Amino acid sequence: MTSAFILQAANAIQQSILANEDSLESLDRAIGDGDHYINMKRGAQAIVGMQAELAGLTASQALNKIGLKLLGTLGGASGPLMASFFISMAKQWPTADNPALSHAAVAFDAGVQAVMQRGKAGLGEKTMLDVLIPVSQQFLRLSKQATEWQQICPALIETAEQGLLSTKNLIATKGRAAGLGERAIGHLDPGAKSCQLMISAVCQLLLDPERPLN
Ligand code: ADP
Ligand code: MG
Repeated sequence: MTSAFILQAANAIQQSILANEDSLESLDRAIGDGDHYINMKRGAQAIVGMQAELAGLTASQALNKIGLKLLGTLGGASGPLMASFFISMAKQWPTADNPALSHAAVAFDAGVQAVMQRGKAGLGEKTMLDVLIPVSQQFLRLSKQATEWQQICPALIETAEQGLLSTKNLIATKGRAAGLGERAIGHLDPGAKSCQLMISAVCQLLLDPERPLN
């Protein structure tokens, strides 16, 4: 994986965030403070603007720089959490241009573990981790047999959607929504929605037969 592919993925993520303004806005207005869409839009814009900075870097270096940039731009509770994800994934990201799926899965999992540590949260607390943890587990499992992204991306997209839907009937025990008690029930978690959108955007790109870059 090259920094050129990472920039292409950042573009796809930005398009997806912009296309889902209404749902990201309204979810954080319902169970948070309404700033999640603005935070995500600002973060995505900052990454897409890093073209010159990322050119020629290895994937690991590029992911680390993205994490550091998010720390400074994303804001909210989600900012430091997503920054930790990228910085920790970067540390483990394999050097090969076409890494084995199992190595990529281990790096993704390191990112998810960092979010868990930083947020002191786990599964079932109505956060982004309700998408990230199941996707990571599925990625680790599937990457043991598969050799191509095309073989695993549909299942990862599906797992992210299921994880997002699972947040609907949960009470939040972390973050701003934790103060709402039962009133949070019936709403999807905004951070989980962002993570689902990001995972889906990158997977769709990996599935695209016209994709020019690796
Ligand atoms: P803020 O809550 O500060 O306004 P955002 O609106 O940008 O920040 O992000 C809210 C999202 O952050 C939540 O929807 C949830 O997914 C995630 N989040 C909040 N606290 C935690 C935590 N401790 N662990 C994991 N994710 C969290
Ligand atoms: Mg918010």
